[in-house]
Amino acid sequence: MKPLLLLLAAFATGPFLGTRAASVFDWPQHDWSRPRPPIIDPGTPSTDEKPGKPPSDAIILFDGTHLDAWRSMDGSAPKWVIKDGVLECVRGSGYIRTLEAFGDCQLHVEWSAPTPPEGSSQGRGNSGVFLMGLYEVQVLDSHDNMTYADGQAAAAYGQHPPLVNASRPPGKWQSYDIIFTRPRFNAHGELASPARLTVLHNGVLVQNNVELVGPTGWLERAPYRRHSDKLPLSLQDHGNPVRYRNLWIRELGSDAKFKENIYDDATLNKLVGRYRVGDLSIVITRPADLLQAAISYPGKTMSFPMYAESKNKFNLRTFDGTITFETSADGTGQGLVFHIGGEERKARRE
Ligand code: MG
Repeated sequence: MKPLLLLLAAFATGPFLGTRAASVFDWPQHDWSRPRPPIIDPGTPSTDEKPGKPPSDAIILFDGTHLDAWRSMDGSAPKWVIKDGVLECVRGSGYIRTLEAFGDCQLHVEWSAPTPPEGSSQGRGNSGVFLMGLYEVQVLDSHDNMTYADGQAAAAYGQHPPLVNASRPPGKWQSYDIIFTRPRFNAHGELASPARLTVLHNGVLVQNNVELVGPTGWLERAPYRRHSDKLPLSLQDHGNPVRYRNLWIRELGSDAKFKENIYDDATLNKLVGRYRVGDLSIVITRPADLLQAAISYPGKTMSFPMYAESKNKFNLRTFDGTITFETSADGTGQGLVFHIGGEERKARRE
């Protein structure tokens, strides 16, 4: 067997059973050889006048100067506007989403409801933070504004009211600090563990590790449906000019290892095709939202979902493999470089 196939077989089907989850009993107490956590600058808190400084290891989603991290839902440039260093929702322009996809995370959001307040109940200062584009933490002007409990500010919309109403008046800056654990699905696509959510509203605990029963729905509690481990975060256009500033995210746990960006259909479809070097063939298809690589030697084919680190570079994630495309000026795949475990093969499109 060729070295590359041996490697591939070992990674994909070998006896490796994974690693045991870290336990407190893995280390003696006070062991000096135990790896110490990375050192970071924790940043500074915000005031009403001025946004604080994010932690040094955060991914900055909006710092007041540009919307490079954001897209409209169709992948085009976002139509929300920046005014005086603040991001404002434009009525009817649609939700916006991050270019990058995220799973487990710590998310910091600052928002301010329109002043003077207009409308009532769900019509006043309504927006929302959608983790993975599916699970909403409600943004609403809940200062002196009656609505249903599971739809007020900091509710897990339609599921869990906040423990207290910690709202500030419209025009004042408010913060959400969100810790989100994505749902897990087993190999059959069934729910293995639900999403969990902790929220501090203006520093006050309002959601304490609550379990979500499924994605956010209006007039329905929709069941979970299998989805990617990482999906873009989105902000809701509910027709009110809610403002945002100082948006940052820290990826947590094993999800943090892989960066993933979401690209539109046209970009991905140009990479679909059959690539070959010698007796190694790599067939790129698009069975669902992700590209898939079927890697074949004579007598053996293995398929892997491909996660986009950039427009050209994809991680196979279940093992240490990457596929980097060489493209023509219009983005059509002409060849690819397949990396696995320190080996590299250059394949041409057939
Ligand atoms: Mg909303």
